[in-house]
Amino acid sequence: MAAQRDIHHFINGKATPGTSGRFGDVFDPNTGEVQARVALASAAEMGKAIETARAAQLAWAAVNPQRRARVLFKYKALVEENMDELARLLSSEHGKVVADAKGDIQRGLEVIEFACGIPHAIKGEYTEGAGPGIDVYSMRQPLGVVAAITPFNFPAMIPMWMFGVAIACGNAVILKPSEKDPSVPVRLAELMVEAGLPEGILNVVHGDKEAVDAILDHPDIKAVSFVGSSDIAHYVYSRGTANHKRVQAMGGAKNHGIIMPDADMDQVVNDLLGSAYGSAGERCMALPVAVPVGEKTANELVERLIPEIEKLVPGASTDPDAIYGPVVSQAHKEKVEAWIQKGVDEGAELKIDGRGFTLQGHENGFFIGPSLFDHVTPDMSSYKEEIFGPVLQIVRAHDLEEAARLASEHQYGNGVAIFTRNGLAAREFASKVNVGMVGVNVPIPVPVAYHTFGGWKRSAFGDVNQHGMEGVRFFTKIKTVTQRWPSGDISDQSFVIPTMQ
Ligand code: NAD
Repeated sequence: MAAQRDIHHFINGKATPGTSGRFGDVFDPNTGEVQARVALASAAEMGKAIETARAAQLAWAAVNPQRRARVLFKYKALVEENMDELARLLSSEHGKVVADAKGDIQRGLEVIEFACGIPHAIKGEYTEGAGPGIDVYSMRQPLGVVAAITPFNFPAMIPMWMFGVAIACGNAVILKPSEKDPSVPVRLAELMVEAGLPEGILNVVHGDKEAVDAILDHPDIKAVSFVGSSDIAHYVYSRGTANHKRVQAMGGAKNHGIIMPDADMDQVVNDLLGSAYGSAGERCMALPVAVPVGEKTANELVERLIPEIEKLVPGASTDPDAIYGPVVSQAHKEKVEAWIQKGVDEGAELKIDGRGFTLQGHENGFFIGPSLFDHVTPDMSSYKEEIFGPVLQIVRAHDLEEAARLASEHQYGNGVAIFTRNGLAAREFASKVNVGMVGVNVPIPVPVAYHTFGGWKRSAFGDVNQHGMEGVRFFTKIKTVTQRWPSGDISDQSFVIPTMQ
């Protein structure tokens, strides 16, 4: 038997073996076998890493923004050079196919590209002559040490959303990635040091609840950026803000795709397949709910989807022909399959059942075939909750108003899409729907890096989004200086507040 591979923390520019004595298993989802174990940090280990980051941060903040950007330019090139290796590593722990793993890394790199523009993005504002001889200027300063706590489903993109912008702004970062696929975050941090980032500015500390709680309670952590499931997001938000930290905490999702009778049905079928089943449905911007408007649209949609879904066969994540790979863990597989059973028990019509799927040669892998439900209704818990697997649910609506209400009233409000040729209806829908990110004939409307990412309702706690200028605002604090230089004129003494009267 091969020796156990250990995945260490990466602190102060070095691989740092864990000392807590606690480890988590890292699986190969294709085979179901444990392929490595990852150190799980104790609160004391986390505290030491935070101290290290704190000691390094002031010098980094003093590096001018253009030089900070140069490290990121170099980093982008280095990640691109290592793309194949990173994508294979990511795929081997997450289970998404290699091409999709490259997309995960590329979307993160696009935030690094945005962060390369930090000299422009971080510029303050200046008003000359705000009063007699008085100028006012504002500047954005880094917060200090900040934490990034990330989910398993985008082990490259989401860490880069956070550390790309945070580092560019002059902060030091503690990245606590998902313990399910921790290797790529470590490689990303190693490459940052290779690109010239001073040691101690980007640290990866693995762990579970104990490590997260240590972050949330530590006085030297000034901000926490979190992405994960909603209950944990709410917990992180509550505990972090109670400890006076700035917190943005993105949660789960249940995105609706509304199909109008005038939609291009070829495009809709194509888009739904990719966005419902791609990455085995483990995307917070997946479209797991289709809402056809009118019986005729619904019947046509179901009729056209069924033969296409039946062709979707999952495969090993390393197979270049696989449409999607296994889900991340046995526990997750069981959870998704339990939701399928719940849907059946609640009375939804299971048109295609993906349970019990096995891949020859990978009998113990965490594979689930694609499932399709018709006649799902809003009172069903399998509709209300996130399934996060390769399951598409069809909820039939009579008109656009009813369809829009479903998305608007759902507890989650991450993304929504409308498929139509009617520009006016789409415009009105985009304006009124109670959801944070909207696609018009775009099934996965993940905004580009220089715009901003964030859902509404139980999909996000806190007010500031990820990346784009929102990210710069999140990772900086603003200082405003009102200045006057002595001119010899002594102004009148006054005991009332100065005004611009
Ligand atoms: P998760 O909530 O289980 O884990 C997220 C992070 O929280 C991990 O780093 C994990 O170690 C930590 N964590 C887990 N349990 C904890 C606890 N009890 N106390 C403190 N920390 C804890 O999420 P996941 O399963 O890794 O990721 C999938 C979820 O993330 C889905 O719900 C998905 O919708 C969501 N997600 C949301 C977005 C978004 O931007 N809204 C993006 C990607 C994923």
